[in-house]
Amino acid sequence: MARVFVITGPSGVGKGTLIRGLMARLPELELSVSATTRAPRAGERDGVDYHFLTREEFDRRVAQGEFVEHADYAGRSYGTLRSELEDRVRAGAPVVLEIEVQGARQVREALPEAVQVFIAPPSLEALRTRLTARGTDDSEEVERRLQVAEEELAAQPEFGHVVVNDRLEDALEQLTAIVSQELA
Ligand code: 5GP
Repeated sequence: MARVFVITGPSGVGKGTLIRGLMARLPELELSVSATTRAPRAGERDGVDYHFLTREEFDRRVAQGEFVEHADYAGRSYGTLRSELEDRVRAGAPVVLEIEVQGARQVREALPEAVQVFIAPPSLEALRTRLTARGTDDSEEVERRLQVAEEELAAQPEFGHVVVNDRLEDALEQLTAIVSQELA
């Protein structure tokens, strides 16, 4: 039985923070390291935060069928490599994917048994405040991400589980409950 957990939702909603909290509470979970064509941010490490690939390398791997899912997001490509998933799934380890909505849809097709959780912000305004406060993206990039976020928020009803990240502790509690229940 594959146990794949897809955590999706707009950029800046707190997916990364929630996943870190989730993994601290449920240490048997393993995180799939995604591939991307975007440049590393300060402090990000290749092979740990992402596999940072050139456009050519990413496209070559797409052509060779190496991705379970991949999507373009705000002008860059992101994807889940089969190699990140398959060994873990075969060994029975529960795997967490942190991906955007188009990728989550592809996983729904490829692995219908995967558990999908949509993390929603309390409002679009709250998302703007967080993306700006995070300071990882310039104002143009923040605007691009907010535009994508509007479309992503419209996809909420497609997801089996929705967790609103208003107070982090409450959201983490809800997410942990969903995942624990599926693992039990
Ligand atoms: P960031 O540039 O902020 O690290 O990520 C931008 C968006 O891409 C986020 O919503 C993040 O969850 C998503 N993302 C990260 N890895 C993947 C992946 O492997 N596949 C897809 N489809 N989206 C990803």
